[in-house]
Amino acid sequence: MRLAFSKPVLDHPSLVLNRSWVAIHVTTVRRALCLVYSDAALVVETEHLQTFDFDGWCDWNRSTTGRWVQTPGFRVAAPEVIQLQCYNKVPAYDAPFTRRNLFERDAFTCQYCGKHVGGERMSIDHVTPRSKGGKTNWQNCVLACVRCNSAKGDRTLREAGLRLLNEPRPPRWTPYLNIKHSEQLESWAKFTASHRAAKG
Ligand SMILES: [Zn+2]
Repeated sequence: MRLAFSKPVLDHPSLVLNRSWVAIHVTTVRRALCLVYSDAALVVETEHLQTFDFDGWCDWNRSTTGRWVQTPGFRVAAPEVIQLQCYNKVPAYDAPFTRRNLFERDAFTCQYCGKHVGGERMSIDHVTPRSKGGKTNWQNCVLACVRCNSAKGDRTLREAGLRLLNEPRPPRWTPYLNIKHSEQLESWAKFTASHRAAKG
């Protein structure tokens, strides 16, 4: 079947869950409907978390977002969330080393005192100071509040008598995590609560 979809709705985002209900990706409504139509995925209705195959979804005929895909013969609600039927992994890739990604890895929490920090109070601390050969990479950089960072100064952990809350390592991220907050639908919060919690 080929559906003559109206374009804007088809380009809206649709969250993809794996078989274990873990958010792994964001696709378009177009691709989501194709996956559901070919039985590779089910639509997840986001209020009561019922799942539907393509026919069931058409019969159910409700939309919480008011986004409909209109075809010549009928209309179908744009799926906000779909669940893959076979895929159960969580794809991951190495996140690029950037300031923002570092803050995300450390959950906006000072890795010395555990305080939640944001805005101008955030700084990046070199665990082994640069003056002592410390590199600027995932293994040697952590988020620190300005206070802890200046208290530690140009000293190593041992010299400063400090301990890290978590061992710094490169994060493995799913493609889903690369999507900006502003591009996410409200209904996705249910499926991504653990990710969101880390961001405060
Ligand atoms: Zn601190």
